[in-house]
Amino acid sequence: MTIPSAKPKDAASVVVLRSSKDPHLYWVKRADSLLFMPGVTAFPGGQRDSADGEIPVLNSESAEAAQMIACVIRELFEETGILIAQGIEHTDKEQLASLRKELLNGNRSFKSILMLTGLNLDANLLTPAGRWITPPFAPRRFDTWFFLTWLPEGQVAEIIPGELVKGEWIRPQQALEHWEDGEVLLAPPTLHIIRTLAQGLDSDITARLTSVPEATGSIVRRIEMHDGMLLFPVLTPTLPPATHTNCYIIGREEFVIIDPASPYEEEQTHLAEFIDTLIANGQRPREILLTHFHPDHVGGVAALKRHLNIPVRAHPLTQKKVGDLFHVDGTIADNEVISLPGERGWRLRSIYTPGHAQDHICFFEERTGALVSGDLIVGMGTVVIDPPEGNMCDYLDSLRRVAELPLTAIFGAHGAPMGGAHFKIQQYISHRLLRESNILKAVEQGATTIPEVVKVVYTDVPEKMHKLAERSVLAHLEKLIQDGRVLAEQGHYKALPSLTT
Ligand SMILES: [Zn+2]
Repeated sequence: MTIPSAKPKDAASVVVLRSSKDPHLYWVKRADSLLFMPGVTAFPGGQRDSADGEIPVLNSESAEAAQMIACVIRELFEETGILIAQGIEHTDKEQLASLRKELLNGNRSFKSILMLTGLNLDANLLTPAGRWITPPFAPRRFDTWFFLTWLPEGQVAEIIPGELVKGEWIRPQQALEHWEDGEVLLAPPTLHIIRTLAQGLDSDITARLTSVPEATGSIVRRIEMHDGMLLFPVLTPTLPPATHTNCYIIGREEFVIIDPASPYEEEQTHLAEFIDTLIANGQRPREILLTHFHPDHVGGVAALKRHLNIPVRAHPLTQKKVGDLFHVDGTIADNEVISLPGERGWRLRSIYTPGHAQDHICFFEERTGALVSGDLIVGMGTVVIDPPEGNMCDYLDSLRRVAELPLTAIFGAHGAPMGGAHFKIQQYISHRLLRESNILKAVEQGATTIPEVVKVVYTDVPEKMHKLAERSVLAHLEKLIQDGRVLAEQGHYKALPSLTT
């Protein structure tokens, strides 16, 4: 089955190194508010701009490579102030700093900066470091060209807080330790590059960096943003814009599999083959765990259970609902801790979180602070609250419950993992409360039926989505009734005066 997703956009990223005797790399932390990879630690870089193709680059192999080199040098300059070019050692630093500000303000193009300063971009100043395509789980996908370069003498990196919150020089080995300790989230290419650099920097570095198929554009199957927490996206019949559900494989010597989701045989085979490579590596599957009983989460349970011959555990309500689709061997209690062995180990605490579904469970990994959030919080699209299964009061209570955990990251069932967990949860809560107050206002102003409310409140949503919006309005109205703010009479809604004001 081919994966239905948009063509990835061109992007480029660069690893700047300094001190050849004791190499340090420069990594940056992305802001929690970003849509793409919030709170993730990465290398400077960004998307290609149409003007990048107009910049001459010396010694470039092709026009395509030239524009990606121009792109990465421009992005690096914008984000850090570092400029990689022939003749840079003779350029006035203060002039460069003020030109960077003009570039960031949109008052000057990168091309005109190069012309004004007489600098030339040169492909020989960069070493190719592979080309990676964002896995299909992400709302935005990139075909990213990676490069290595050395920090020119006398230059310093300076982050202007915005899209990036900070930058740091670090030895590759130390960077790896931070990741193993669960302190940073790393995308697959970042992890691969750091690991390769930690093994040493020699003349065959490009060959080593591109020795894995993912580094030359093949599909990335191993996504390990935290140590021992693997994400395996599978194609599912889920709600657009999502096309995939993330299956999580957590642990090492012994591991659990959360939500083997795909009902499609080919996807089930990919997942089984991937797990077989872990088994061949001496790892042992312990059990399958479920977040909730929705078809885009449990479609592959029966097949994987057969393949691995391991038990399935889920919420007691899931066990009741499942019928003869597969056998649920045991239940998961609220606050139960599932410990997985290892040098540091993993401790998954189950957190009962109804609202999207009555049987919904999240799994909180206590060491790293990552929440496997199922459909409570997702990395793309919206969470459907569809009564009677969905309940808005419960949903908001569940969001508030996880907000009290010492969370660092959210690993949702759809979309890419996210850092900045608390920022995201607050955003979710305020979004729902804003909708609620708009719905109440609409009822106060005379909308008495659900379609009338949708028409007034969901002006930002295309009409074809209005049927779905009606379910959500019903969920909000049920909460408003429970809160004593709205009354329902023969299918018509009426606002009640607030008792608190
Ligand atoms: Zn669901």
